[in-house]
Amino acid sequence: MEHESCIFCKIVKGEIPSKKVYEDESVYAFHDINPVAPVHILIIPKKHIFGIQELEERDECLVGHMFYVAKKIAQEQGLAPDESLNGGYRLVFNVGKDAGQSVFHLHLHLIGGRAMGWPPG
Ligand code: IMP
Repeated sequence: MEHESCIFCKIVKGEIPSKKVYEDESVYAFHDINPVAPVHILIIPKKHIFGIQELEERDECLVGHMFYVAKKIAQEQGLAPDESLNGGYRLVFNVGKDAGQSVFHLHLHLIGGRAMGWPPG
């Protein structure tokens, strides 16, 4: 199911260009247009889900798959932490406007390539 006005549905359909990193039958990953770190990739489901706030039980496996894809991409990008746990990356879902969600099609941010602070702003 897609939403006609959804920018990420348009990216999945190829109607808006994107820098693809990974694709399979259920997930699409591409570089964020406004990166906040040297590596900033978005992992999205191909089907339209508004956000975590509207996640349904039937989508549990899909979200787990998104995390697995994120891990594989992070490894490919050379971001995986080493044996001393140096290196690494951050995986983020922004849920709602106060959390910074601006696109209402579920997306997992994969951010890395620099040290990050905590708590986030
Ligand atoms: P949010 O703020 O958590 O909703 O994240 C949305 C992300 O989508 C932001 O980091 C934007 O930079 C990114 N974004 C918005 N439009 C596009 C696009 O057309 N291509 C790639 N990334 C986009």
